[in-house]
Amino acid sequence: MVRKQKRKKGKKTKSAGRFGVRYGRKIRKAVAEIEEQTKALHKCPKCERKSVSRMGTGIWRCSKCGYTFTGGTYIPQTSLGITVERAIKRLGEREAGMGSEEETEAEGMAEEER
Ligand SMILES: [Zn+2]
Repeated sequence: MVRKQKRKKGKKTKSAGRFGVRYGRKIRKAVAEIEEQTKALHKCPKCERKSVSRMGTGIWRCSKCGYTFTGGTYIPQTSLGITVERAIKRLGEREAGMGSEEETEAEGMAEEER
């Protein structure tokens, strides 16, 4: 029998090919998927060019403008990170608007303790 289709080597395993047959197909697939996202060039939040690469755990750097920032461990911006950022921004807005009220509240509590 002659094989008509040639199999492309390493197409299925991708970056997880270094593990050989170890650890199971599911885990290797997950690793390959994450590593593909990690190694890809991401958009820079400052200059908007696609040249952000991973320096270390959660550290990302744009090779064009040199802008270094923190983000997700494997991707520059995670959905949870966006949620947290929004919450912090909201807190900052509240503090700016009612800063004086909160101060008097804290003072009142201190007086009660005495
Ligand atoms: Zn940049």
